[in-house]
Amino acid sequence: MMIRLLLSVLVAAYFTSILNAQNQTWQGKFEPIDRLIAPPNTYRTASGAPGKAYWQQRADYHIMVTLNETNNTISGEETITYYNNSPDDLSYVWVQLEQNVNKKGNEDFGTINNNIEDGMSTRKMQFLTRAIDFPAGYSIKYVKDSDGKPLKTLVNNTMMKVKLNKTLKSGESAQLSISWSYHITDRSLFLLSREGYEYFPGDDNTVYLMGHWFPRMAVYNDTEGWQNQQFQKLGEFALEFGNYHVEITVPEDHIVASTGKLINREDVLTKTQLKRFKSAEKSFNKPVMIVTEEEAIANEKQKSTKQKTWKFKAENVRDIAFASSRKFLWDAQAVKLPTNTAMAMSFYPKEGLPVWQEESTKAIKHALEVYSEATFDYPYPVCISVNTSNIGIEFPMISFNGGRPKNGKITDVAKQRMVSTIIHEVGHNWFPMIVSSDERKWMWMDEGLNTFLHHRTLAERYPSFNRYTPKTIIPFMSGDKSILRPIMTTSDNELFNQFGMNFYVKPTVGLQMLRNSIIGKELFDEAFREYANRWKYKHPNPADLFRTLEDATATDLDWFFRGWFFTTDHVDMELSNVKWFKVFEEESNIEDQKGTSKSKIATTEKSSETVTEDFSNGPEMITVANTPDKNYGQFLSRLDNDAVRKELAGKNIYELTIKNIGGLVMPVTIEWIFTDGTTETETLPAQVWRRNEYEITPTFVKNKAVAKINLDPNFEFADTNSMNNSFPKTESKSDFDTFKNRKKE
Ligand SMILES: [Zn+2]
Repeated sequence: MMIRLLLSVLVAAYFTSILNAQNQTWQGKFEPIDRLIAPPNTYRTASGAPGKAYWQQRADYHIMVTLNETNNTISGEETITYYNNSPDDLSYVWVQLEQNVNKKGNEDFGTINNNIEDGMSTRKMQFLTRAIDFPAGYSIKYVKDSDGKPLKTLVNNTMMKVKLNKTLKSGESAQLSISWSYHITDRSLFLLSREGYEYFPGDDNTVYLMGHWFPRMAVYNDTEGWQNQQFQKLGEFALEFGNYHVEITVPEDHIVASTGKLINREDVLTKTQLKRFKSAEKSFNKPVMIVTEEEAIANEKQKSTKQKTWKFKAENVRDIAFASSRKFLWDAQAVKLPTNTAMAMSFYPKEGLPVWQEESTKAIKHALEVYSEATFDYPYPVCISVNTSNIGIEFPMISFNGGRPKNGKITDVAKQRMVSTIIHEVGHNWFPMIVSSDERKWMWMDEGLNTFLHHRTLAERYPSFNRYTPKTIIPFMSGDKSILRPIMTTSDNELFNQFGMNFYVKPTVGLQMLRNSIIGKELFDEAFREYANRWKYKHPNPADLFRTLEDATATDLDWFFRGWFFTTDHVDMELSNVKWFKVFEEESNIEDQKGTSKSKIATTEKSSETVTEDFSNGPEMITVANTPDKNYGQFLSRLDNDAVRKELAGKNIYELTIKNIGGLVMPVTIEWIFTDGTTETETLPAQVWRRNEYEITPTFVKNKAVAKINLDPNFEFADTNSMNNSFPKTESKSDFDTFKNRKKE
């Protein structure tokens, strides 16, 4: 009874003092994020792994397609075998018709997001007004079932509902046959064009980059039912896995690069090309030219009207893309991974020379090696990089990558960007092409994770290149909060000028912080690898990533996920005050103590309110009183009062007042610079903010006297304002302020 009463008095006093200090509402920054994410179930476990009842649909494709160069059209017939592995019976299915995104009258983000300006470029004006008309979008000739009976369809923008003649029962499969054609888009006509054709007036030839090109099954899963987010270009992919057999008919003098293994190379390659390809399969050190510059230039002049069919087979992929042109040079080499040997290959017009020949295949090799080590071995037979004028886009086994020299010359910056793009797009083979998250919904899940490994590849293989670090995100994080959105924002709801920072850079530096500063490399790398392996060839959701990273590290990261992914708070810690104390020693060193301190401050004096500017006043001398017996209560053992005083004798005690201005709770990295010039850095875990999310006053004992203290000295946690990070205050401008001023100009 007594003890309980005493306790409650103590507790009451404690809380009063906390409340006084805090004066701001508690926001529960360390509370579980359970209410922000979907609860676990039999499909997705609480540990973040696929559950016992996890299922996903599958779609196999048999496609015959013809590229018509005279009018830039493509027409095809495909048979889809759709496996209903869900527990549900389906009376209709949805098919993606992504070419409809450019169709006139469709939802068009291009017109919504721009203003008319005097003197604006014709290109921008074209994006806005569609001054030059273009007959974009699919013509669907028929949709039939396996008996050849027509199926009723309804098109909603980029999606087509196919009503089945017979309900597709759980566990059964059905076949759909679709015949279609469309005008291949001119890449220069549309905003954010990543596929389509590029015409080269110099030699009157075209490079065709075919992506989003055939009607594909939409995703049906346990979290969404049918994926119902339309294709609007930012949220690129949400697709099911399956096996593909594709026959691509093109002009006879074209070279075709495609997802999959070329299964009729004897029919489509010349004897010389085949011989070179076979030697490339044994070349592990450098690429072998399969089509040389001279041969490509000779091809440019042919303009054959005959046709040739290239056949490809791809297993366990969620999409297929190809490129075709008579302009292509082609180089290839083998890359040996512990469990697979893949052919790294590049296709480029002569306009990409010489840098493409020098760098492209090499970049593929670097990406394959670093990503495989970080996750799982690249499983496919080929990995292709095709040159384009601008932007990069990824597909399984093949990517179209921007970057070209001008008159054979390329600046260092442009070359870095080009190599970086290739590594990034090759990296997308892992995220989302294999670890198949839903990009319609969560662009950050593949862009963020991929950019994280992309920049790790740069760090390991191209150390001189510019890279993202936590410092990179500072200007964005300190931006206008009325415009900023959290990372957990649906892909197409983000602003055009912010998605790069929010969906690529912010998740990347968040993962860098977890790896380098919060969890530690070894434990983090294992958890990241665990996530990739748990979800390869499956559809993970954000919760599955969050849960796996906690589960595989035994670290509660809810505070980090909550702040970094669900809010727009930023890190700004202020070192508001530092108090320096020394314990007054009654017996010895009186002279010494007088030398460093003006006078012993009486213990009765209220010194806790004083704010000092620097250390020039010397330490405040304090006495340490014996602990009264009553404080021990029933305990028989007592602290040795003198031993405590002796331990502290001569040492410097610092009490820091650190305020959380930005709102984001983070570990606190403190750099101590001692008067003798030596330094020491220590990090307090984020959990120091648990009880007071706004202000903490941690205490430290140092043998040496301190000349200066800095918070987040290496921008490890992206503290946005370094002006308030030091004691004594730093006078120089922070990088952030310099950036802000530059922006204003
Ligand atoms: Zn990307």
